[in-house]
Amino acid sequence: MAFEGLTSKLQETFKKLRGKGKLTEKDVKDAMREVKLALLEADVNYKVVKDFINSVSERAVGEEVMESLTPAQQVIKIVNEELIKLMGSTESKLKPANNPPTVIMLVGLQGAGKTTMAAKLALHLKKHNKKPLLVAADVYRPAAIKQLQILGNQIDVPVFSLGDKVNPVDIAKAGIENAKKLERDYVIIDTAGRLHIDEELMQELKNIKSEVKPNEILLVVDAMTGQDAVNVAEHFNSNLDLTGVILTKLDGDTRGGAAISVKAVTNTPIKFVGTGEKLNDFEVFHPDRMASRILGMGDILSLIEKAQEAIDEKKAAELEKKILSQEFTLEDFLDQMQQMKKMGPLKDLVKMIPGVDVSKLGDMEVNEKELLHAEAIIKSMTKEERRNPSIINASRKKRIAKGSGTTIQEVNKLLNGFEQARKMMKQFGDMQKNMKKGKFKF
Ligand code: GDP
Repeated sequence: MAFEGLTSKLQETFKKLRGKGKLTEKDVKDAMREVKLALLEADVNYKVVKDFINSVSERAVGEEVMESLTPAQQVIKIVNEELIKLMGSTESKLKPANNPPTVIMLVGLQGAGKTTMAAKLALHLKKHNKKPLLVAADVYRPAAIKQLQILGNQIDVPVFSLGDKVNPVDIAKAGIENAKKLERDYVIIDTAGRLHIDEELMQELKNIKSEVKPNEILLVVDAMTGQDAVNVAEHFNSNLDLTGVILTKLDGDTRGGAAISVKAVTNTPIKFVGTGEKLNDFEVFHPDRMASRILGMGDILSLIEKAQEAIDEKKAAELEKKILSQEFTLEDFLDQMQQMKKMGPLKDLVKMIPGVDVSKLGDMEVNEKELLHAEAIIKSMTKEERRNPSIINASRKKRIAKGSGTTIQEVNKLLNGFEQARKMMKQFGDMQKNMKKGKFKF
């Protein structure tokens, strides 16, 4: 996951401050030197770092001290606020057209993740009850059109194409006409990229822009390229007057530089981020939540949103009923695990919880493996065994371990874990029932 190095370095710096009752000017200065190094190492633009450190230092040694906070908390608060400001302060929403369809033109270098992002964005809009149309105007990269058609098919969004022999300007224009005919309210144009910035590409994009007058021109950049991403953004912005930037590959070992500097350098807000290869790996960019994540303070709001998207509400209600009536079975346990999996890798989720020390997350992968094993074990059980695990004797355990490619110890571990979960749920259920009967008072 992104920002790992930066987050643990910042946490380390703040930990040192926490031990102190009162901060001297020297303490703040030392801390700021460490923050500066951490940001530079994370590939944040040098000038951005300098300005950032100046404004934080000024505020930290100035008179802005709140009584309710310790001096160390005060410094963290200021760093947090300045980071948010740096990344754009508030969420930047898409600007819808007065007369639909709203036209969104996606631009960027080859391999940045533009085509994938076109589909992710379409899915995001669809989830918000919009009707997008994808337009395949990348006529240069081999298989780009086919790729978009496959992705469109997966999310059930129509894809407009005229093949790769037609001028992209004409494709874009015809795509918009097609959207009007089909009554689609958003058009997402996937334009061609190049391996490097080149003038021919810029000219072509300018031509599309002047012909179709898009409501949004969003640049897709690979966050893993750090400072390069910022340079690319500057170049595209000076040619096309971007309305926003989308950072992809924020799931990789991105050091964070691009996310932190893009807005400050180009004065163009980051609107969305891509966090994986799957079409659900997409987030609206919230500067405040991102700052929290960078500082290791968690991002509970994004976690809740992910849970709401992944968890089927009807199933959740059924589960609650089962817990209350103490009918929670291994099948439900499996169901729960599968829902958890839909929310993405555990490690990414845990990182959104406040107070988690990222440097200690090393062995989370194991737990994901355990989850897979647990799933295999439960799937190797008969229906009867899943409903009534008490019948699982030694020979059944042996069969289940063999069938799932695990060991008897692992089967035992899972059964114990389930038994514990069931006991807890029983207690929880009893508590709820008693509360309803008025036996507990607060
Ligand atoms: P394009 O040339 O800009 O259209 O790029 P593609 O959409 O074809 O993406 C290039 C590669 O990056 C593909 O292998 C994608 O699966 C991958 N990719 C795209 N977005 C992300 C992301 O957010 N995270 C990761 N890890 N990979 C991504």
